[in-house]
Amino acid sequence: MRETDVPRTEDAEGFAPPLGDMSAEDFRRYGREIVDWIANYFASIEQRPVLARTQPGDLVAKLPAAPPERGEPMGAILSDVDALIAPALTHWAHPSFFAYFATSTSAPGVFGELLCAAFDAKALLWRTAPAAQELEEVALSWLRQMIGLPGSFQGIIYDTASVSSMHAIAAARESLDLRIREDGMSGRPDLPLVCVYTSEQSHSSIEKSVITLGLGQRSLRKIPTDAEFRMDADALARAVEEDLRAGRVPCCAVATVGTTSTTSVDPVSRVADVCERHNVWLHVDAAYAGSAAVVPELRGLLAGCERADSLVMNPHKWLFTPFDLSVLYTRRMDVLHRAFSLVPEYLRTLETDWQQVRNHSEYGIQLGRRFRALKLWMIIRYFGHEGLAARIREHCRLAQLFASWIKSSSGWELLAPVPLSVVCFRAAPSREGETDAEREARLDALNERLINSVNASGAAFLTHTKLNGRFTIRLAVGNIRTTEEHVRRVWELLREQCARLSDQSV
Ligand SMILES: *Cc1c(COP(=O)(O)O)cnc(C)c1O
Repeated sequence: MRETDVPRTEDAEGFAPPLGDMSAEDFRRYGREIVDWIANYFASIEQRPVLARTQPGDLVAKLPAAPPERGEPMGAILSDVDALIAPALTHWAHPSFFAYFATSTSAPGVFGELLCAAFDAKALLWRTAPAAQELEEVALSWLRQMIGLPGSFQGIIYDTASVSSMHAIAAARESLDLRIREDGMSGRPDLPLVCVYTSEQSHSSIEKSVITLGLGQRSLRKIPTDAEFRMDADALARAVEEDLRAGRVPCCAVATVGTTSTTSVDPVSRVADVCERHNVWLHVDAAYAGSAAVVPELRGLLAGCERADSLVMNPHKWLFTPFDLSVLYTRRMDVLHRAFSLVPEYLRTLETDWQQVRNHSEYGIQLGRRFRALKLWMIIRYFGHEGLAARIREHCRLAQLFASWIKSSSGWELLAPVPLSVVCFRAAPSREGETDAEREARLDALNERLINSVNASGAAFLTHTKLNGRFTIRLAVGNIRTTEEHVRRVWELLREQCARLSDQSV
């Protein structure tokens, strides 16, 4: 067949795709167009406002309410992506995205997703996608070595940290041998309260896990933190001892390395002491900060984590991996297996010895799983350990630089230490003759207006938290495209807007 004989569905009169998929010819043509579009998107992203400038319902109003009766040409669909979809997005890939945890995709990650969609492997059993299972083992071993966790930890990929932590706490519960798997928790007078401990700065996903697993919010002990937002390990010990005295069952303590508000680091070794003394499962939530441990001089961050039963870290947060990819490492894979293995007859295979062949569906609630390891493996190979470390090191340097500007400027203050790449600060211009309460109220209002006006400018996107009751602006550096220039510009923007707002309020 000569090339001109290849049917171009697009050109057909009254476009109607024949049965089967798009032709190889069209796939090539649109594939090139899409890759070009993405390359332009990345190259010109700074011309777009970071935060979407749409109102709720805007996009819905622009799209037909009913599905198309007949197929439409790919060209028409792509032009709507360009004209309607992209403008209605907040651009996480924008280098001036400093909100939440700034996380970004990377080119090798995009390629990994593309191939993943093409293979469309459902990695439920080893035999349904051998490469998916084995590449996961290889990529997670590489990642484990890069962050310095011992070989006694094995990893498994889930979608998000919330789901990884839920599985860890389910394994912790299984380890108690309370027959919860078989008998459940409801209607059991023989079952004492099963308790989970975490700090009051921990991520909401821990509380959601406790809700989901049926332990109930009343079983969650939120341990107070010190002046630098780290869990008070003595208070943890007291809480565990009190529960034991009352006949309750301490099950799991969740320490955070890199809390969501301030990136504070709980004293994991001291938490591990308490856990070991009372046989409590130690889970470490290092969703954000785990990636920092690929930087050799930051490995100390995970000190004590070698004693944990499980640890979660998110390559989709700070390792340039497109959403989603979260990794749960555990020294007790057998317990996770015990908690979740359930093999119906139609899934029995020749490779039944799970110790030799890990069928991932036996380690979680999902049966089918995406081939997520592919993108991680491609990213680690493309950047190398050194390349990944260099980028994260630079992000930490930029955060320190920004913090140094805050510290040396009157009328601005830091509200938390800066161990990694997040700076918590506020504008604090002084005013004569105010009480403390008046000052706090004025600064809360000023900083809220400040962040709103910076975000409305489209030039940068920042979010906030509350620390000791104060409205606190967070600058999170983590995007692969962010440079010193972007950090400098957001600092100028903040100062301009602050001056403008302060003038107005005089
Ligand atoms: C972001 C974050 C999470 C939640 O991450 P998901 O992958 O979106 O579920 C959990 N814990 C910490 C400490 C985080 O920073």
